[in-house]
Amino acid sequence: MRSEPATIRDVREGGKRALARALSTIETDSARAEAIALLDAAAREPRGHVLGLTGPPGVGKSTLTDALIRLWRDGGETVGVVAVDPSSQITQGALLGDRTRLKTDPDDHGVFVRSMAARDRLGGLSDDALGAVVLMRAIFDHVIVESVGIGQSESDIATIADTTVLCIQPGSGDALQFMKAGVMELPDIVAVTKADMQEAARRAAADVEGALTLTRPGTGWSAPVILVSATTGAGVDRLLGAVADHADWLGGAGRLAARRAAQTGAWIVQAVRSRYGTEGLKAVVADLPSTSADAPFSAAECWCRKALRRLAAGAGGA
Ligand code: GDP
Repeated sequence: MRSEPATIRDVREGGKRALARALSTIETDSARAEAIALLDAAAREPRGHVLGLTGPPGVGKSTLTDALIRLWRDGGETVGVVAVDPSSQITQGALLGDRTRLKTDPDDHGVFVRSMAARDRLGGLSDDALGAVVLMRAIFDHVIVESVGIGQSESDIATIADTTVLCIQPGSGDALQFMKAGVMELPDIVAVTKADMQEAARRAAADVEGALTLTRPGTGWSAPVILVSATTGAGVDRLLGAVADHADWLGGAGRLAARRAAQTGAWIVQAVRSRYGTEGLKAVVADLPSTSADAPFSAAECWCRKALRRLAAGAGGA
């Protein structure tokens, strides 16, 4: 009997159990040939749209994820969630376990939630979390990547998300400061959460609008600012409308293909850096391809091996 699914089709047809098994394979030994082959196949067969949800702790990301899952499931669309949990760096495990805050029906095969450890305490995406998103993207209509943090983790999310939504809470100036200072990768959409806090939410939205006009680059897409209340449901449909608009915009003029191809180049950089640090990256960076759309996970392995060889050669020669 085969102990793990060999193809994307097996995972698609095998339901939650097959997906859970495939994710365990990735997590336990991502360098194993089968895991890499599966991830490369998944990268070549994207099916769904990836929504990155980011923002500080307590802003309302889980509540919003819950609301989005319900809306999509009501419409018959399938959803995978990867919740990146920075606190598990400390406990060496996904502290939130099955994300008890996200209440999904265990018998519903159209929704799958996985909580994963962050790469660091800033909430950066680990190689395993990246693999999980790529795998889920080949299976579900929608994938949500939920990640805590402001600053570094946003650019991590941008290496996998098709559409990045930054969540900002009324009355908190953090994200605004980062945006104005240019520290943060600009989101595709800004959601001002807890819009039921009315006046404070409106003020926050106006502040964000102001910050965006200061920094908006000439990409042809203007990030909309949407007021949402996940608890009352107000504005969630408008947020979904903005996500759909952004997906349509990406779909035009080959933007989505270009964005995804560029992301594969970033995965290789990330893989080399996470395994061999800045020194390892320096050893190969000049030769790295800017895209690797065909087999990005094999390519990452190959560049990791090269980095190791060059580091060893450098140490030997010193
Ligand atoms: P996360 O840490 O970003 O995932 O935030 P949570 O989704 O766990 O929410 C943090 C707190 O904010 C919880 O107590 C939620 O009940 C509350 N919350 C979330 N969404 C809303 C909202 O739309 N309105 C209000 N008033 N509270 C909210």
